[in-house]
Amino acid sequence: MAPNDQQDPMLPVSPPATSHQTHHNMWDLTARRAGQCGCFFDFDGTLAPIGDDPEAVAPVPGTLDALGLLADRVKRVVIVSARPVDFLRRQLGGVPLLSFFGLYGLEWQTGSEPVRTHPEAEPYQSIMKGLAAEADQELPAEVLVEYKRLSVALHYRMAPHLRTQIEQWAAGRGERHQLRVQAGRMVVELKPPIGRDKGSVVAEQIRDLSCAWYFGDDLSDLRAFAALDARQSADPSFLGVRVSVANAESGHALRPVADLCLDAPERVPGFLTDMVTVLAPRAVTP
Ligand SMILES: [Mg+2]
Repeated sequence: MAPNDQQDPMLPVSPPATSHQTHHNMWDLTARRAGQCGCFFDFDGTLAPIGDDPEAVAPVPGTLDALGLLADRVKRVVIVSARPVDFLRRQLGGVPLLSFFGLYGLEWQTGSEPVRTHPEAEPYQSIMKGLAAEADQELPAEVLVEYKRLSVALHYRMAPHLRTQIEQWAAGRGERHQLRVQAGRMVVELKPPIGRDKGSVVAEQIRDLSCAWYFGDDLSDLRAFAALDARQSADPSFLGVRVSVANAESGHALRPVADLCLDAPERVPGFLTDMVTVLAPRAVTP
């Protein structure tokens, strides 16, 4: 059961910390700009509840239908996640018209095109395969080693007391192979040292848009929020809406810099369905 289940799922942060838009203008502008609007979503903790087994995590019922409706109304619906594209497609691939940016944008897939790999990340495939095998052999069995082709994630959700040991192991391997070491929620990830993150993906994907919404729950989503901030600073007519999705683990971590807060991933499908009803009649208005 989601925490605070009785709260208003569309509770605005008042006053919005970073937006120049009022709550009313936010909806009005989005409706009028639907054809130039992009909607961006993190996956874990945003469209799907966090679970002990990362492979068993699945989107909240109703999410696929809601994303499908939204994709018919706005210019672009994009999933931006730490997960591989293959995983995201397994979970959400039934929705037509989605774009997937996996591994923080090291790989991506649009429509029926093949998965593309960031050229600077290609050489790291063999290193990551070796690291995953080493982690499996050297770390305690409670650590879940997730091999993601271009990165390796070490999950210690089942054994939080191992955190220091895992962080030290990751730091050592990171130094040896000149990798980036990124800590997340109950996870440490070894990544290629490439300047690619959710922020750079969103900055690139909003260039041809006049409106963008980003839904996220975790610290890595702050970079995406910042990409909206930067675009809005450069172009005050641009509408960026930052939506924080709370959950049992992160709580309202992004709330201080969000324009809207939803209380749980379970709130997202209903919110998007409401959003579609706002967009549908106005999208055809000149
Ligand atoms: Mg997340």
